[in-house]
Amino acid sequence: MAIRRDVSMLIAPAEVTAALCPGRPCPPRLVRVVEIALRSAQPLLDPVMVYRWVAVTAVGGQHAVVQADGDPPGRLEIGPHARLLAGAHQALVTAVSIGPQLDEADCGDRLEAYVRDCIGVMALGKVAAAAAAVTEAEARSRQWGVGPRISPGSLAGWRMADIQVLGGCLPLSQAGLDLSPEGVIYPLKSAVGLIGIGPGYGGSTVGSVCHLCRYREGCWRRRD
Ligand code: SF4
Repeated sequence: MAIRRDVSMLIAPAEVTAALCPGRPCPPRLVRVVEIALRSAQPLLDPVMVYRWVAVTAVGGQHAVVQADGDPPGRLEIGPHARLLAGAHQALVTAVSIGPQLDEADCGDRLEAYVRDCIGVMALGKVAAAAAAVTEAEARSRQWGVGPRISPGSLAGWRMADIQVLGGCLPLSQAGLDLSPEGVIYPLKSAVGLIGIGPGYGGSTVGSVCHLCRYREGCWRRRD
C-alpha cells in the first residue's frame, strides 16, 4: 500500500492545444486562452495516487474475486467484460486525484473555464499514467504481461457500486479522498480503478478499454 504525491504536473501549452484541436491548427484566440489557463491552473494541481496490490483469486463469466493481504475477499460484479481480468494473478487497485483546488477556484470567462477543466482532465490522466507505470514495472520484474485499466461506472456493464469494494482496499482518507455511500469520490477530479498483471496477458503496457466505455461517444480523450 502506498500514497505518492510526486507526480510531475508539467503540462506544455502544445500538449493542450493538440488535445483540443486534434489534427488541425488551433485558433490563435484558443492558443492564448490555453496559455492563460495553464498559468492559473498549474499551481492549483495537487496530485495524489494511492495504490495497493491485491491477488486475483477467481474470475467467472461476470465477476472476479480480489483479496488484499489481511483483508477478506472482495467480489467484483464486473459484468460481461469480466474476462478482461482472466489473465491476472494480481491487480493494482488505484485511486488517483488532482485535488480539489482547480475545481474550487474562480475562473475567467466560459472558454477559460472550459480549457481549465480540460487541463484538469489531462492532469488526472498524468496521475493515472504514473499508476500505470508502477503496474508495468512490477509486471516486467515478474516477466508477466499487463491488462487494461478498468473502472466501475465507466466499463460497460460494471456498476458504480463496486467503487466501494475497490475503495475499501485503500487508505483513501489518508490521501485526502472521500468516497460517498453512493460511490462518488471527492475531489471530483479523481478516479478509482484496477489493472491486472499476470502470465495470461501478452502486452507490456496498460491497455485502453475506450471501445468498451459507456462515456465513449462524448469523450474527447478516447484512445480507440
Ligand atoms: S472513452 Fe474516455 S472516459 Fe472512457 S475510458 Fe476512454 S478516455 Fe476514459
